[in-house]
Amino acid sequence: MPPTPLVGPFDGASARLRPAEPGRLAVDDLVRGTVGVGWVEPGSVAGDTATVRVSTSGIASPDAVAEVLDAITSQVRAAGIARLLLETDDEDRDRYTTRTGGDPDVTLVPALRVTNSLGRRVQRVVTRDAGAVGLYSCGPTVYSYQHLGNMRPYVFADSLKRALQWRGMHVQHVINITDVGHLLKDADQGEDKVEEASRAEGRSVEEITRHYTQTYWDDLRSLNVMFPDHWPKATEYVPRMIDFAAVLEERGFAYPLPAGLYFDTARQPGYGELAGLDFDGMLEGARVDPVEGKHHKTDFALWRTFTDGRERLMQWESPWGLGAPGWHLECSVMSMSLLGDHFDIHTGGIDHRELHHVNEIAQSEAYLSDGRPWVRYWMHNEFLNFGGAKMAKSAGGILRLADLVALGVHPLAYRMLLLQSHYGSQLAFTEQLALNAHVALKRLAARISEALGAATGGDGLREPVTLAEALDEAAVLGSSELADRLLALDAAMVDDLHTERLLAVLSDWSRAPSSLPVAEWEVLVRAVNTLTGLDLGRLRPADFVPPLPADIDVAWVEDRLAERESARAVKDWALADRMRDELATRRIRLEDTPSGTHWYVAGEG
Ligand code: AMP
Ligand code: ZN
Repeated sequence: MPPTPLVGPFDGASARLRPAEPGRLAVDDLVRGTVGVGWVEPGSVAGDTATVRVSTSGIASPDAVAEVLDAITSQVRAAGIARLLLETDDEDRDRYTTRTGGDPDVTLVPALRVTNSLGRRVQRVVTRDAGAVGLYSCGPTVYSYQHLGNMRPYVFADSLKRALQWRGMHVQHVINITDVGHLLKDADQGEDKVEEASRAEGRSVEEITRHYTQTYWDDLRSLNVMFPDHWPKATEYVPRMIDFAAVLEERGFAYPLPAGLYFDTARQPGYGELAGLDFDGMLEGARVDPVEGKHHKTDFALWRTFTDGRERLMQWESPWGLGAPGWHLECSVMSMSLLGDHFDIHTGGIDHRELHHVNEIAQSEAYLSDGRPWVRYWMHNEFLNFGGAKMAKSAGGILRLADLVALGVHPLAYRMLLLQSHYGSQLAFTEQLALNAHVALKRLAARISEALGAATGGDGLREPVTLAEALDEAAVLGSSELADRLLALDAAMVDDLHTERLLAVLSDWSRAPSSLPVAEWEVLVRAVNTLTGLDLGRLRPADFVPPLPADIDVAWVEDRLAERESARAVKDWALADRMRDELATRRIRLEDTPSGTHWYVAGEG
C-alpha cells in the first residue's frame, strides 16, 4: 500500500484541491472561477516535521490562497504532525507571512531557484514528477587527463544534487563518458580525440579510455563528488544512436551528404534559443568546418561517414555508410535512454550553451515532436581561467588535481576554492589561490573540530541529512539558534547555489566554537557536510601537510631527486650527499626511507 499522502483533496468555499499528476494536487480558485492556477505537493515527513511544497502565485484571489493554507495546516495537524515546512513561491510569501504570523508551527522556506540558461532567468525548480529529479551532466571526453577546469562542472553538478537532496528530492543522475565522437576543435569533420590519443600514445582505444576514465573517477572521489546512478559510455549506445538518426531522417529533419547525415536546423523554428543573444557565437562554432553541400551554416552531423578509405579504430556500419556518430547525438540518446524522453535538468560547461546543447535540443525536440520543451532547466558553469584565458588543453597552461596535491594542497581545498565562487562567475585560478584555500580549509577544519570537541571524527558527521530532518533535530534539542543557522545555510544554498555565502556564514560561526552546545554543532556540521561535501569534523591536522611555497619548482626538485637516485644506485654516496646539501640550500629536506626518498620544505607548517 502506498503511504497516504499528507495532504489530500479538499473542497472549500474559495478554493479546491484536486488530484492532478501523481503526487501533486491542482488548485482551483473558486472565487475567480479559474482552474489549475496553483499546485500543492506533499513532501516527506521527518520525525514530527512535514514538508509541503506549494505554488500559489498564480492565484488571484487572496481568499483562495488563505483557504489553501488552512486546508494544508489543518490536514497536517489532523495527521498528528507538529511542524510544517512550507516551501512557497517567492512572489507571494507576503500573503503567507500575514496568515502564519501567529502560528509557531509553520516555517516558510523559499523554493530552490537556479539560473536557467533557457531564458537566462533565475527560476524556481519545479520537477516533472513530484519529489523526483532527472539530472544529466555532460561528461568528460576521456582522451587525456581532466584538468582543474574540467572538474568545475562536476563539483557544480554535485552541489546542485546536494541541494536537491537536502530539500528531500530523489535525484536520478547520469554523467556520460565520451569515448567516441568528440572531434578536435569540437568540429564535425576531422580526427576523433580518442583515436588521435590512441595513435599518439601507442595504446589501444580501450586502454586509453579506461586509463583516463579511472583517473577522472579518482579525482572525483578525492573531491567528494558523489557518483551518479549511471555512467553510460558513448560506444555502448551507437546502435541506439543510429536508430535515433534514422527516425530524424525519416521525418525529414535530416539529409544525407557524402560526408554523412546532417541535421537540418532550418526545420526547427526555435533553433538556437538556448544560445540567446549570442547567435554570433553559435555561428562561430558552426563555422569550424565548412562541409560540402551543407544547407545551412548551422546544420550539423548526426552521422559522419568515412569517405577517405582510411581504416579507423572506431567505426560502425550504418544506413549512411561506414562511420561514427556525431558528438551531439550521444547525449540526447543516452539521457533519454536512462532518464526518459523528458527530464528535468541538464548541466554542462558554459561553452556548451552555444553549440553542443543547442544541437542536443534541436535533434531531441525534432525526435520527440510532441510540442513540448525537451528539458526545462539548462544550467551552465562558467570557466575556470588560468593566465587570463579559459583553462584548456589546447591553450597549453593546464594543471591537474594531482599537480595541486604535489604542491601539498589538500584536494578538498580545491573543492573549497570552487565553492568560494558562484558557479555562474568566472574564476581566475592561481596556485596562490589554491594555497590560500588550503590554509583556509585547514583553519576552518580545526575550528570546527574544536567546536565539536569529543564528537570530532564521528562517522555520523558524514551522514547526509535533509532540511526537514535537521530542523526536526533542532526542535527536539529545543534550539531556535540551531534552527536559525540551518535556515541561513538553506537560504544561501537554495538561492541559486550561493555556496560562497554559505561558507561565509559558516566561517563567522566557526570563530565562536562555544556559541552552540556540542550536540547542536553536530547537527549543524552534518548539514554543512551534506551541502558542501567538505568533510568538516573528519579532517585532521595531519591531513594538511604544509603546502609548498610558490618559489619551489616541483619539477626541478623531482629531477634532482631522480639524479640522486641514480647516484645512489651506483653507490656514489659522495655525489648523493652533495646533492642533498645542494637541495638543503633551497630549503628542501630529504628523508631516505625503505619505501624511497621523501622530501619536504623546511620551516613550513
Ligand atoms: P570535455 O572533456 O572537453 O568535453 O570537457 C568536460 C567539461 O568541462 C565540459 O562540461 C566543459 O564545458 C567543461 N570545461 C572545459 N574547460 C573548462 C574550464 N576551463 N572551466 C570550466 N569548465 C570547463
Ligand atoms: Zn553532452
